[in-house]
Amino acid sequence: MLTIGTPFTARGKKALLLGSGELGKEVVIELQRYGVEVVALDKYPNAPAMQVANRSIVVSMLDGDALRKIVEEEKPDYIIPEIEAIATPTLIALEQEGWNVVPTARATFITMNRREIRNLAANELKVPTSPFRFADTEEEYKKAIEEIGLPCVVKPVMSSSGHGQSTVKTPDQIDTAWREAQEGGRAGKGAVIVEGFVDFDYEITLLTVRHIGGTSFCEPIGHYQESGDYRRSWQPQPMSASAIAQAQEIAKKVTGALGGYGIFGVEFFVKGDQVIFSELSPRPHDTGMVTLISQHLSEFALHVRALLGLPIPEIKFYGPSASRALLAWGDSTDIAFSGMEEALSVPGTDMRIFGKPEVKGHRRMGVMLATADTVQEACDKVDAAAAKINIDLK
Ligand code: AMP
Repeated sequence: MLTIGTPFTARGKKALLLGSGELGKEVVIELQRYGVEVVALDKYPNAPAMQVANRSIVVSMLDGDALRKIVEEEKPDYIIPEIEAIATPTLIALEQEGWNVVPTARATFITMNRREIRNLAANELKVPTSPFRFADTEEEYKKAIEEIGLPCVVKPVMSSSGHGQSTVKTPDQIDTAWREAQEGGRAGKGAVIVEGFVDFDYEITLLTVRHIGGTSFCEPIGHYQESGDYRRSWQPQPMSASAIAQAQEIAKKVTGALGGYGIFGVEFFVKGDQVIFSELSPRPHDTGMVTLISQHLSEFALHVRALLGLPIPEIKFYGPSASRALLAWGDSTDIAFSGMEEALSVPGTDMRIFGKPEVKGHRRMGVMLATADTVQEACDKVDAAAAKINIDLK
């Protein structure tokens, strides 16, 4: 049985959030709705989740020793990773010592590394994926390209949001793709994955919750990506009954192998009735922000309920909805939003401003949300509302 005491008292519960972006911010809000104290970590001050947490600590979460020191001092009941770039070997050691990592330290370790997750999904669980090869050197890379053939997609083994990723369509793009993967990888120079290009009809995120009562699924979320980064998502993505059943079966298998309680964003490519597993996150997913308007319990609320060990007897879906990322381009620490009066004057619209303190290059600064009678109308509505928002950089 769960007991939650008043924050800052002996029976209070405390969560340590590793990563304080926009997804973490919503997780903090949901934790606090249950009276859980939150300490938010990130490598820079005033990150979105820090602005709503009880306390914050600026630290590199890739620094295992620093992370261990914070855990030992704070003694959190829950350690909740919200990003991939974390010293996962430290998390594994902490979990073995009895600390509670959400959903499990192994899940965070395996999913941050494309080699590990492919090994689990394709080799061990025999789940359908695109054909793939790994390469540690340029020579191995060229051999991998020959074996996979063109077109193919090249990605650093450790990266997310499209960093260092390129599609190679013609032989003259092979060298550039290697250089980009070397520059864009999280760990600096290193191994790459070469994947056969999947000519999919559409791609989805299947939000999958592992909780005390079993495994539940949200309606499939369709999304549109540019340079590997999400621009717009919608729910539900129309799918055949057979495709949905396959996706749910694969999601259950892979998340079951990772274990623990929490939400997982499981990504698939779909072509006709063929469902191909791509990758997954053991935490809320950016395309899942649409659930802030489409569901009674958003992906953030579901994550928190699951990790607290509370029941999720149903996931109530309100109807066709869409989300659109609000991006800013430039270089500034003086950022202002306007146009909200017009954008929100249309019934069935909502938005979030993340409160990020800086833009360098391009950055996701907010999200527009909309509901309507059909998915197409929701997408049109969210686009029209997003177009009303002006992000001014001084
Ligand atoms: P990822 O970081 O692996 O999720 O890739 C980001 C996006 O790139 C995906 O959501 C797809 O739109 C696209 N993509 C990645 N891998 C492939 C592939 N093998 N074939 C076609 N498109 C891909």
